[in-house]
Amino acid sequence: MFLKTFRGGVHIRDGKKLSSASAIKEYKPQGELTLMTNQHIGAPAVPCVKAGERVLLGQKLADPGGFVSAGLYSPVSGTVKAVTGRECMNGDTATAIVLEDDGLNEAVPGYGEERDWQSMTPAEIIAAVRDAGVVGMGGAGFPTHVKLSVKEGVKIDHVICNGAECEPYITCDHRLMLEKPSAAVLGMRILTSLFPGSVGVIGIEGNKPDGIEAVSAACEGYDNISVLPLKKKYPQGGERMIIEAVTKRRINSKMLPADAGCIVVNFSTVIAVAEAVAYNMPLTRRVVTVTGDAVREPSNFLTPIGTKARELIEAAGGFTEEPEKVIFGGPMMGFAVYDLDLPVNKTTSCILSYKRDRVYQPSECIRCGKCLTVCPEHLMPIKLKNTADERDYAEFERLHGLECIGCGSCTYICPAKRRLSQSIVAAKQFVMIEKKKAASLK
Ligand code: SF4
Ligand code: SF4
Repeated sequence: MFLKTFRGGVHIRDGKKLSSASAIKEYKPQGELTLMTNQHIGAPAVPCVKAGERVLLGQKLADPGGFVSAGLYSPVSGTVKAVTGRECMNGDTATAIVLEDDGLNEAVPGYGEERDWQSMTPAEIIAAVRDAGVVGMGGAGFPTHVKLSVKEGVKIDHVICNGAECEPYITCDHRLMLEKPSAAVLGMRILTSLFPGSVGVIGIEGNKPDGIEAVSAACEGYDNISVLPLKKKYPQGGERMIIEAVTKRRINSKMLPADAGCIVVNFSTVIAVAEAVAYNMPLTRRVVTVTGDAVREPSNFLTPIGTKARELIEAAGGFTEEPEKVIFGGPMMGFAVYDLDLPVNKTTSCILSYKRDRVYQPSECIRCGKCLTVCPEHLMPIKLKNTADERDYAEFERLHGLECIGCGSCTYICPAKRRLSQSIVAAKQFVMIEKKKAASLK
């Protein structure tokens, strides 16, 4: 079968076999839950509860801090232990709401009750998504209601469900394809109903044939929703790459998917939309893959947001030996963490632990050109790295460095082990910050 894809990219050993056969297990946290107020893109959420207050399952804990923001909801019933500063993955401190679970699971009225979503207006559906605190669960954390609020006059003809799950090791979406395919199709029915005449395309990489089969079966009877098998290639799940694979349209850093007539929503997020709109359930839990060669029993857990990483690793049988590296997310775009008490956020798809952290010494560029051939944005990574190292940001921009999506394919493929993406991403961040500063002075 010819599978759709994009130009560029790399073929990576995916390590998914470690956890792909592990059915989702519901995990009940033993310790306190820590809900960070900055676990999405945009303004941090603003706590609306105080220490000592009793809260119910599904109760709002924090309001969105602006339009591009998301609220937080309680995943348990219990008591607010503290509203305090806690360290984040990147070492910064942010406000967190710390909860003690009372184990009673007492919910707010209406929680989990079925709603007649087909009688809701588009504005009511988008408001329901917003009021459930739904954000992109594939890693980006972009508030979903913002994505759905397209400008008047913009025609959306494709709603794309991103089921590529191209990052090595991660299997949470794959398990959801097998265990909750109808929920994903319900989410797609809701999303396509917002854009009359649109089609829903669920893109799934060809390395998940059972997922393709299960979701295709759930699509039966819904003529405007279908599964599109995609070639297994990294970063197939990048937003720009999946748009290209599905529609042959390309967008750049100055465009939104809506400019290409598309809305792209990750697989877990589509299910969160279905739960929010059709069942009045805010986003308070997610599936997390706990895996890697340092973990005894790689697993997929459905766990409350705020659960400590340490607890999930213990639930997966603990470490076989002390790992040299623990990553939140996948090996290509995840964050290495140093503290196992860090909590699961809405965007935490995976906790990956390696026995050995292979650190290679970079050598001189041998001009093989491999980094150019794999870059999905058709950039010149070696030239961009040189300009970044020389701090020649004008040349960096002229070479379209701001188009880099930070996928790491160039670093992965480089035989000289040059740290290409690391330098390019750092330069891009610097330029973006400088641009923001300049704009704020105008
Ligand atoms: S330059 Fe950026 S987009 Fe291109 S391969 Fe490297 S990290 Fe990916
Ligand atoms: S892949 Fe590495 S060695 Fe080859 S051209 Fe790019 S930077 Fe040089």
